[in-house]
Amino acid sequence: MTNVFVATCDLAGQTRGRAVPASREDAALRGSTGWVPADLALTCFGPIAENPFGSTGDLRLLPDPGTRVDVPADGDVPGTRLYLAGQALPDGTPWECCPRGFLSAAVAELAGLGLTPVASFEHEFTLDGLPSSLPFSFDRYRTAEPFGSDLVALLESNGFAPESWLPEYGEAQHEITLAPAGALQAADRAVLLRELVRDLARRRGLRACFAPILHPDGSGNGVHIHVSFEGGKLADPDRPGGLSRAGAAFSAGILRHAAAITAVTAPSPVSFLRLTPHRWSAGGVFLAERNREALLRICPGSPAEFNLEFRAADATANPWLALGVLLRAGLEGIRRGYEPPRVWPESVTEAELAGVPPLPKSQAEALDALEADDVVRGFFPADLITTYLSVKRAELAALDGLDDAECCRRIADVY
Ligand code: GLU
Ligand code: MG
Repeated sequence: MTNVFVATCDLAGQTRGRAVPASREDAALRGSTGWVPADLALTCFGPIAENPFGSTGDLRLLPDPGTRVDVPADGDVPGTRLYLAGQALPDGTPWECCPRGFLSAAVAELAGLGLTPVASFEHEFTLDGLPSSLPFSFDRYRTAEPFGSDLVALLESNGFAPESWLPEYGEAQHEITLAPAGALQAADRAVLLRELVRDLARRRGLRACFAPILHPDGSGNGVHIHVSFEGGKLADPDRPGGLSRAGAAFSAGILRHAAAITAVTAPSPVSFLRLTPHRWSAGGVFLAERNREALLRICPGSPAEFNLEFRAADATANPWLALGVLLRAGLEGIRRGYEPPRVWPESVTEAELAGVPPLPKSQAEALDALEADDVVRGFFPADLITTYLSVKRAELAALDGLDDAECCRRIADVY
């Protein structure tokens, strides 16, 4: 191993950073790697959007040693080590706009209520470069070898605790799930997993793509975020849906602020092509038992396994911000004692669900909802939300005038 890469994940959900020689790893761990405030305004297409920082200011990347992943050498391609970093001011104080810090702060707020969130991100992606195969088939699973076995081994060797690797429904689609972990660790793993998948696919002559949707009529690539609380505190078998009082209020917070939340969890110009009914993504703003059209699905299991699944996320989102905004909205529901939401039973019909609120129809609508929701906007420091809205609107403007199919292609090119 010659180099160590120190990275952050930005508002476009892209992992960016700098490599240092392995001989300087100790210095890098102490924060010797510089970074620039305006980097927060990088769009997914490359150019920097308008931002409050300009050409001035300096930051340090402070790697968290616990995030270390090692990618072994592979043929001619050297191995590397990767760390995720928080962003700090030159004097070492945390930078208020750091997306990883946003999630840490949400976790700390929940700890103040005696709640420790546990999470897991399920990722769907497509693998291009393989013969066509049937959904869920053994054939697709075997056709993806040795990529699949190599991926599971790589994740296991880095302690990611993969739980399943499956041929999915969509064309060339696959899915990888990891065991639940503490919220920060789960989000760190989501950032890293995408890079490990892309990197391994490249080395095997394939292309992995995490774009939310590859064609307007195609299936979506979702990222489903599972959340529960340590100690079985989400569950109460005697209450509706088996959700504890805190769990119901937490769900209410997410449902009430759903429109603004999706501007953070599904933040690309094509994300809302996926978030339409009958795609098993999320067909409306409701909480239901075991229903894959729900925004929030109650997943069955023992009190330790029991969890809420948020289905309206995709891999164009920054995992720290996506989980952070869910936790903050849930916390708002608990703190302000939001009314427990209706829990739709598994047997609910489509006609009965006709009156549930819809999700935003477009990214522009979601961004307007975020700007208009004082509560959700208030979760963010002013410079962070200003930059966020600027980046997302710049990405939208970059695709202005293109039809949906072309927008899908442009997003697929960069995710
Ligand atoms: N592909 C679906 C989505 O876009 C999810 C299907 C499933 O695994 O339930 O979220
Ligand atoms: Mg799936």
